[in-house]
Amino acid sequence: MSAEQRYRPDDGCPLFSERLEAHILAYTRGELPNRGRFCGHCYTPLGPESVACPHCGTEMSARAAVEQIPEPVIVMLRAQRSTERTIVNTFAYLGLVVAILGGLAVVLGVPYLRAHLLPAATVYALILLVGGRVLAGVIGGYYGDRLGYERARRRLRTQWGAWLAERG
Ligand SMILES: [Zn+2]
Repeated sequence: MSAEQRYRPDDGCPLFSERLEAHILAYTRGELPNRGRFCGHCYTPLGPESVACPHCGTEMSARAAVEQIPEPVIVMLRAQRSTERTIVNTFAYLGLVVAILGGLAVVLGVPYLRAHLLPAATVYALILLVGGRVLAGVIGGYYGDRLGYERARRRLRTQWGAWLAERG
């Protein structure tokens, strides 16, 4: 799921603006240097003339812009993405398990299928192929995505709070 489609909660943590996330990802891929002009509060990339951050509203006269995204902030984005990925994958596997067990229940529950191996195997294969994919997509892509994002945000808020305390 792309950053644009994401639900963005107003939970007091200004990380990560879409532009900051895009910059960190490009930096991670080696396409951009970790250099530029960034908001001194939320590290959103700024234009050379910006006097206030378009994302968090911090004025550069109050908190000077910085030239580099601090390493801990980059680590926070990696941690957020890894939490999300783990939960989405776990839920996708759960969907697959549901299809495997559900398919077995269907094949064993229908007397005709129980007595005929070939039709039973065909039905089971279809349920696995179609159901496994659909359930993995729905459970992983929808519920997993939501839960993963919420869990990752919660951790991020804690890390952001600690970072603010450290930054002073
Ligand atoms: Zn900002």
